[in-house]
Amino acid sequence: MNNVTKNAAADIESQYRSIFENAVEGIYQTTVEGRYLRVNPALAKIYGYDTTDDLIVGLTDIAGQLYVDPTRRDDFKRIMQDDGVVRDFEAQVYRADHSVIWITENARCVRGPDGGIQYYEGTVEDITRRKSDEEQIRLLAKVFDSVGDGIIIVDRSLTVKAVNPAYESITSFSASELMGAKLDMLAPGYHEKTFMPSIWAELTARGHWSGEATCRRLNGAPFVAALSVAAVEGSDDALAPEASGHFVITCSDISFRKRQEQRIRHQANYDLLTQLPNRWLATERLEQAILLSQRQKTGLAVLYLDLNGFKQVNDGMGHQAGDELLRLVAKRLRASTRLSDVVGRLGGDEFIIGASDLTDPRAGSNLAHKILYNFADPFVINGREIYCLPSIGVARYPHDGNTADLLVRNADMAMYAAKQNKARPVVVFEPHMLSVAAERLDIENDLRRALARKEFVLYYQPKVDSSTHEIIGAEALVRWQHPEKGFVPPGAFISLAEECGLIMAIGEWTLREACAQFVQWRAANLALKSVSVNLSPTQFLDRGLVDVVQRILVETGIEPGCLELELTEGAMAVDIEQAITTLGNLRALGVKLSIDDFGTGYSSLAYLKRLPIDVVKIDRSFVKDLGNSPADGQIVGAIIALADRLGFNVVAEGVETGEQASILKDSQCELLQGYLFSKPVAPGQFAELFSAPA
Ligand code: C2E
Ligand code: MG
Ligand code: MG
Repeated sequence: MNNVTKNAAADIESQYRSIFENAVEGIYQTTVEGRYLRVNPALAKIYGYDTTDDLIVGLTDIAGQLYVDPTRRDDFKRIMQDDGVVRDFEAQVYRADHSVIWITENARCVRGPDGGIQYYEGTVEDITRRKSDEEQIRLLAKVFDSVGDGIIIVDRSLTVKAVNPAYESITSFSASELMGAKLDMLAPGYHEKTFMPSIWAELTARGHWSGEATCRRLNGAPFVAALSVAAVEGSDDALAPEASGHFVITCSDISFRKRQEQRIRHQANYDLLTQLPNRWLATERLEQAILLSQRQKTGLAVLYLDLNGFKQVNDGMGHQAGDELLRLVAKRLRASTRLSDVVGRLGGDEFIIGASDLTDPRAGSNLAHKILYNFADPFVINGREIYCLPSIGVARYPHDGNTADLLVRNADMAMYAAKQNKARPVVVFEPHMLSVAAERLDIENDLRRALARKEFVLYYQPKVDSSTHEIIGAEALVRWQHPEKGFVPPGAFISLAEECGLIMAIGEWTLREACAQFVQWRAANLALKSVSVNLSPTQFLDRGLVDVVQRILVETGIEPGCLELELTEGAMAVDIEQAITTLGNLRALGVKLSIDDFGTGYSSLAYLKRLPIDVVKIDRSFVKDLGNSPADGQIVGAIIALADRLGFNVVAEGVETGEQASILKDSQCELLQGYLFSKPVAPGQFAELFSAPA
């Protein structure tokens, strides 16, 4: 070799060495047995050694030290043996610090002149990063395939690139039909023209959009989906931003949830029993109706209805009957009003009606009367005829208020006034009712404390024999000694006590007190035959009444025949059959029963004969004009004759003049009661009446 060729060879040698030394890939030569002959710095680095020498000295058994799975070396050698080369041979190997990496090798065997393998030489690349990326992708693919949400991937031209199985099962479209086709998932006809442009605008501005949309299934059936669309940039976006990238659309079928939401919304807005709007929705609708009236300059009437005697039906016939009555009432109210009117249930037995577009200021009360008329027919519940009329309060827009709340409140006040006066079932709001209501609230609060503070007292009014004027009986009449207001008459608090549920306690006290007083008078040898106690309708219809009366008879020791219970017709008219049963049960205890204020209520002589009662008390309104009006004389005469024929005793109430007393006596009325003989008086005074000369 001359110098020139020597130099050239040295040059080439140094070039190869440089490639070897500086290559990014690891390069090696090993013996077939697994010892390294030569390695480059890159391999030392891949395997975690500081120098190539460290690697050659430290790693002397490739099968045992390098491969995580030592059998990989056998695979490697077998391929070498068979093919002479190994390509893309992937394996997990230990680095010097025992950490594990993925490598891929390409190698060949170098054979000697005899054809035998002298050594292997090859390259090594660290593919740990790629492997974990692949793993990640596999995982994502699994997620893509197994999530419950439908996923569909489209390119910027909306050509479908991928569809997951969930999307297929939600829509029934198959992936093969969708792939390569243009995206068409929205149900036609369900979206505004601006819907898609608004999505694109959002996507362009923020890169994602989410919302609800109506999509369609294969058979065209629409379903509500929660959609989210995300723009995913493509790798080539730098070159052609417009055409690159994809949209990933996820879609979950929320029709079921939507239906449930709708149901919940319905429940929140409607009364489940009657299917009428509830207080909340009714008020909302009234508010809208007011706005409309404002614009159209028309009137609006709010009617507040409360059923009379509903509690009695509910308590007496059971809650199911009560529910049924409310349903029937709702139906009748709907039938009595226009479709455009608001009809709602405020709760309990209270209903609201908003009638709009009225030009006549009397239209509200006309409607109320029409409703009353429609309620005159009985409701049939469990085969029984139930009569149930409402008390109706009317408030008018703009006259009585300009908000729904105000109108409802004022209609309520008017309704309350109607409740107080059975003769006026429809009352139109007047401003003075506000102070009445305020006072009512005061009284209600005081009433709750009155019993505990022993503020009630009983006064007694004598009933006298019409011929001899001898005192035969006494009617106990409750009074309330209010610490500030003084004497409060029962008319001012009994109905309130009924409303706020205090009547049972007050009634029981009255009954016990009157019986005890009677026993005391008897013990003092007062020649008194009976004491009578008033029962309010609520008391009469309470299922516990018979037990309470029996208990008090035993407790006080009064002879049952000396106690008379006074009931009004109203209490019995709600459900005659039930009334007959209760009266029968009371009578079985031995007590006497009388009908109070006879002639003012339902006045049905037809059912009078079916009632097991002993006494009829003619209302003082008939007695008042006796002597002035011949008609009243005739009515009283007829009542007495009828009562006599049916075997009842008759008491005339409110006898104030001697003339009235004598007319009644001549008409064969046995007992008289009224200011002519005595006002109701305290027990001490009552006892004195006996010693006083008649
Ligand atoms: P009622 O049972 O019809 O009682 C008769 C009422 O007429 C009493 O009024 C009495 O004071 C009054 N009165 C009696 N004689 C005359 C008269 O000659 N002229 C006039 N103008 N009035 C007369 P009061 O005490 O104010 O009671 C009113 C109503 O309150 C009673 O009517 C009764 O329905 C009810 N009430 C009274 N006490 C009780 C009670 O303890 N429980 C219940 N549930 N109701 C009661
Ligand atoms: Mg009475
Ligand atoms: Mg009376």
